[in-house]
This record gives sequence, C-alpha cells and structure tokens, in this order.
Amino acid sequence: MRVVVIGGGVAGLAVALSLSRAGHAVQILERDATPLPPSPVEAFERWERNGAPQVWHSHAFLARLRNGLLARAPDVLEALHAQGANDLHFRDYLPPTLVDRPPAPGDDELTLFACRRITFEWVLRQRVLANPDVSWLGGAAVEGLVAARDTAPGMPRVSGVRARVEGRPRTIEADLVVDASGRRSRLPRWLVELGTPEVETEEEECGIFYCSRFYRLRPGALAPAGQGVVGADLGYMKFGIFPGDSGIFSITLAAALDDDPLRAILHEGPFEAAARALPATREWIEPARSEPVTKVRAMAKLVNRRRRFVRDGEPLALGVFALGDAAICSNPLYGRGCALAFVHAWEFADALRGHAGDLRGIALAFDEATRREIEPWYRAARDQDRESRAISAAQARGESISDALSTQPGQPVDPKSFLRSVFRDGLLPALRSDIQVVRAFMRAFNLLVPPDALMKDPDVVSRVLAAWRERDQRAPVEMPGPERSEMVELLQRAA
Ligand SMILES: Cc1cc2nc3c(=O)[nH]c(=O)nc-3n(C[C@H](O)[C@H](O)[C@H](O)COP(=O)(O)OP(=O)(O)OC[C@H]3O[C@@H](n4cnc5c(N)ncnc54)[C@H](O)[C@@H]3O)c2cc1C
Repeated sequence: MRVVVIGGGVAGLAVALSLSRAGHAVQILERDATPLPPSPVEAFERWERNGAPQVWHSHAFLARLRNGLLARAPDVLEALHAQGANDLHFRDYLPPTLVDRPPAPGDDELTLFACRRITFEWVLRQRVLANPDVSWLGGAAVEGLVAARDTAPGMPRVSGVRARVEGRPRTIEADLVVDASGRRSRLPRWLVELGTPEVETEEEECGIFYCSRFYRLRPGALAPAGQGVVGADLGYMKFGIFPGDSGIFSITLAAALDDDPLRAILHEGPFEAAARALPATREWIEPARSEPVTKVRAMAKLVNRRRRFVRDGEPLALGVFALGDAAICSNPLYGRGCALAFVHAWEFADALRGHAGDLRGIALAFDEATRREIEPWYRAARDQDRESRAISAAQARGESISDALSTQPGQPVDPKSFLRSVFRDGLLPALRSDIQVVRAFMRAFNLLVPPDALMKDPDVVSRVLAAWRERDQRAPVEMPGPERSEMVELLQRAA
C-alpha cells in the first residue's frame, strides 16, 4: 500500500519503521523544514524542532519500548547504543536501602534505556530513512484530507491529504493516511469537514507546568553512584533526574499551574536554587561535577486526552487512522508517550497485516487494540493527576503533606484517605525494603502489565499491607526535599 504519514515525530517514525519493513511504501510529511543534522551532537546544538518542542525536555525510555525494539527492530537499539545510549538495568535503580537483592528470572525485561530525546529521534529517523521504501517531505504542512464518499457504507473514504509544501498547495494521494501529528493534531476538525460526526473526545488538564534543564558532566567526573532515573514527589513539586547519552543529563521540575510562587522555577536562578535544595539533584549539579548546557525550558498546556474514531461500532471514516499523541496523550511526567507511540504503531501494523485490503476491519481491529493497550494508561494518568491536584491544592492552602495523606485516629475512615495512607505508609516503605514489591511496581511502571496489576496481585497487596500495619513502629518516611513554605522562601531569595 502507499501510506502517507502526517508528522515525522516519534509516532510517525515508529509507524513508518513498521510499515516499511512489512513491505509498504511510506511517505512522511513533516511540517518542520529543518533537515536531519549530521550527528546527534549537532542536532542537540542547533536542530530546529519547533513542531515538537518537547525534544528539549527530559525523556525516559521505558522497558516496554526497549523490549519491543529488541524483538522487532534490534538494529535501532544497536544504533542507539552506538550513539551513546545506556541501558539502565533493574539492579541499577534499586534503592540503596534495599540490602537483600537476589536476582530473579525476568529482571532482564526491566531494562530501560537512557538518552536524550534528540538523540533518540535522530537515530530513529536515520534508521527509518535508510529504507528505500520510505520517503521524507520536509516543510510539508498538512491542512486537510481528500476523500470520496464510499457508496457501500456511506462514509468518507480518505484518499489523500491537502498540504502546503514550501508555501504551495499540493494534493498527495494515498491508499492509507496515518495522522501522527502529535498533541496538536487537527484530525477531528478535518474529519468534520468531510461530513463525519464529531470525534468523541475526553480531555482534562494535567494541572502542571514542566521545566527542564540539561547539564554536562565535567571531564573525568562521574554521575553519583547507584542512581538510574530518579523521580520523587513532594506534593507541591515533582522532580526527576534523567541520565542521557554522551555525559549529558537533565533535571525536570514540575509544579501546579496555579501555584504562583512556584512559577519562579521557570527562571535560571530559582531553578538552580530549587535543584540545590533537593538532596537527590544537589549531588548531580555540584559545580565540580557538572555544568548547565542549556537554559531552563518550560512547557504548559499539558492535557490528558483520548479520542475515539470508531462510534457505535463503525469507523467515522475509512482509510484514515490516528496514532500516538494525535489519538491519546497523557501527562509527560509518567514518561510513557514514546513507548506507547511504538506500541500503538506495532498494533497498527498488526491490524493491517490481519485485515489486508479490508479498511473497516483494520479500523475495528486497531480501535480494539487502542482500547486494550493504550486507553488504560490514559485513565491511570488522568486519575493519578486528579489525586495530585487535590494534594498540591491542600498544600497551597497551608496544610502539610502528612495532613493531606494521613487517616485521622478515632475518625471514620473514608476510603480515599485509607488508600492515600496505604500508598504513603505501606507502598512507599515497601518500595524501600521489599524487592518483590519493587519488581511488581517496576513491571507496571515499565508498562509490562496493566496499570491495575500491582494492586490486583494478592502477594504484593499482602506485603504492602504488612508494611502499612507496621507504620507506627517506624520513623516517618523522610520527605525528599523541604516543605513548601521553605521552598517558596528559597525561591524568593533566589529571584
Ligand atoms: C514536556 C514533555 C516531556 C515528555 N517526556 C516524555 C518521557 O520522558 N518519555 C516518553 O516516552 N514520552 C515523553 N513525552 C511524550 C512524548 O514526547 C510523545 O508522546 C512522543 O513524542 C510521541 O509523540 P508523537 O509522535 O505522537 O508527536 P510529536 O513527537 O509531537 O510529533 C508530531 C510531529 O508532527 C508534526 N506535525 C504537526 N502538525 C503537522 C501537520 N499539520 N503537517 C505535518 N506535520 C505536522 C510536528 O512538527 C512533529 O514533528 C513528553 C512530552 C512532553 C510534552
């Protein structure tokens, strides 16, 4: 088939990789007009990727993605390693508090890889374009779809796209159109222009803004010992440290959109002050160890959103499919977008193989796979964000995180407070001391099991509850940073 892919980001490249290797001819239309720089190093220094501004933010690449590449495209993984990507094995990210750490079968499946998003995209594009069945048209902004009405089912049959290529209008024909144009996709509007019903959409703000800065380890300096991707939640602020490739790493801080005093971290001085106030990040940015190599970059308007393109058992249109963030996107904090974009692309390739020539069959099979594999992660992110918003709002009102999370002795226990208490006084301590709980948690974190698998596993539940029952005999879990009021004061001084 001749397949036109709208957008050459991660999802567009993932689907081009799968389809071209299955023998289809793929043309990628990418709005950004900047050609691929000669190396990832130059890409990091001067690639203009305005269409995907998140390339300037920290990215984690989860085990589900690594395992899939190993099985379906091992050359891509090899090329990533050749460009400096590092594997992060299960044993590398165990907490130092865990003394007893015997290996177990399946630990190898829990390997993530670390590199900059720019490096990932550079390698991916290079591998995809090495296939002569893939062509790339840069500077091509798609503006709508071309369709005829299919007489049998009476719905539009998409046969191409309308694009503006270097300022000139052009129609590009295709047997299939895949929209991988990211979270700002206009597909719902283009479909309505063809006369379809509205696309069913569910959308909720994540409620955070996000800022990242990249650093380079100084010559001869090493990363702090025993640390893989580190992330923690102070309630009012979330932070992560992301090892990259070639001695570069990044730090990301995120806070609630409506928490005005914390907006100071958008600026370099306060960002550095906040990073110095957190014991985990402080070590990484000691002046003798590393130096910043970018400014602080911010992103907001982040949403959890899912769209459905099949309604009452019938596709809205034939021959057009949405993939990656264009279909479903969620809070970037959870680091799932690239892995899920690949899972989505693999599912699409499988649907195409299973229903050759039957456009309705492909649409229904792909919709079923999307609901099975992608939507549960969207719901998990949406629900976790609702919980985080409630906690950070309580802190902004001056309540301490313990007030927001604990059950009150002698008072009737409401189920939400109980669950919060089990999370804080059961799961968190168990993650520091029980390797079986860490394993189960990391399987869900890496998307290897459905999001609710952890709390459906009777062994894990009994271990977590055992830790929870001992909560009064233990010193309270130390917070990974200062209280909010102290942080606000620090930021004000740094500003
Ligand atoms: C701040 C931030 C941090 C993130 N961190 C992580 C992380 O740690 N781990 C992870 O896995 N994921 C992360 N993600 C998510 C991840 O970046 C995306 O899920 C992933 O890039 C897949 O996106 P995509 O290919 O669907 O869209 P994008 O990567 O956004 O690509 C869309 C492409 O389409 C092009 N385009 C748009 N409109 C048109 C048009 N009309 N015509 C032609 N081309 C068009 C754009 O220029 C762009 O190149 C993060 C996202 C954000 C915002």
